[in-house]
Amino acid sequence: MTFSNLIDGKAVARQILDEVAQRVGTLKKRGVQPGLAFVRVGEDPASIVYVGRKVKACAELGIFSETKILPDNASEAELLLLIQKLNSDARIHGILVQAPLPPQICATKIYSSVSPEKDVDGFHPVNMGKLLLGDPTGFIACTPAGVHELLIRSGVKISGAEIVIVGRGNIVGKPLAALLCQKEKNANATVTICHSGTRDIKSHCCRADILVAALGSAEFVKADMVKPGAVVIDVGVNRIAGKLVGDVDFENVKLVAGKITPNPGGVGPMTIAMLMRNTVRAAEKTVAS
Ligand code: NAP
Repeated sequence: MTFSNLIDGKAVARQILDEVAQRVGTLKKRGVQPGLAFVRVGEDPASIVYVGRKVKACAELGIFSETKILPDNASEAELLLLIQKLNSDARIHGILVQAPLPPQICATKIYSSVSPEKDVDGFHPVNMGKLLLGDPTGFIACTPAGVHELLIRSGVKISGAEIVIVGRGNIVGKPLAALLCQKEKNANATVTICHSGTRDIKSHCCRADILVAALGSAEFVKADMVKPGAVVIDVGVNRIAGKLVGDVDFENVKLVAGKITPNPGGVGPMTIAMLMRNTVRAAEKTVAS
């Protein structure tokens, strides 16, 4: 594989973060500092790492951030009250509730309680609905938005492409499918979603021009499931014996794929970059209104 086959998520994310930093600067000149609140419930080690990375990104860009931490046994009512306070806090333009939430808390109820104008995670039903309708005024969930942007900025032709997404999760697979099938310039693809009820996943994968693995199963996508020259995007994050592994068997698939994301260093940095972009956009909207 030559270097040009690699879709460098870190480099593309850097471009986006530089653009965001400029927008933060413009807002500051108008007396507005974008603000992002993180809410974490419990001490899940991965959540601590994820929130830490996002806090660091905010600090680098000049975005104000604060992290609210509730104990693992916090009630749904306590969390709803905290979100209500953040919804009415003028310093805060975006709110991110880090998943996973403990079992006594209904995640859907929590995501629906975040003001749609501050829902920089794009999980609120209003924003999900706008995505499906192709209404650009909403916020798009960060990982699907990151995959889309990665394809565009890597020069991958999306319009007319056969795209197969393995995984129909609400955070990645479903919103990504909605995004890529819109009748828009950088979309307009024919999208197939595969899941655990799909009869023959390999046959679908083999005809994909763009194959997205977003199922959370270590190295699920093998070289014989990839059409030669296809673009392969690995969203998966799996922890195997303390090591992070993607959903794609990278070492073998890279020999067949036309372009491929490394993992880590592909979709992950894009997710953070899109969160920063959504936050600055939320702040810009308050200025415009
Ligand atoms: P999810 O909600 O659990 O959805 C997983 C989907 O994959 C489900 O639709 C499931 O099918 C399907 N699936 C699982 N195993 C399968 C199998 N063996 N064959 C066929 N389909 C299978 O997960 P998610 O939140 O969408 O996340 C997907 C992956 O992306 C995870 O590894 C997650 O950690 C990763 N992720 C990464 C980022 C990032 O920034 N890099 C961000 C978010 C998520 P059913 O619906 O039939 O059960």
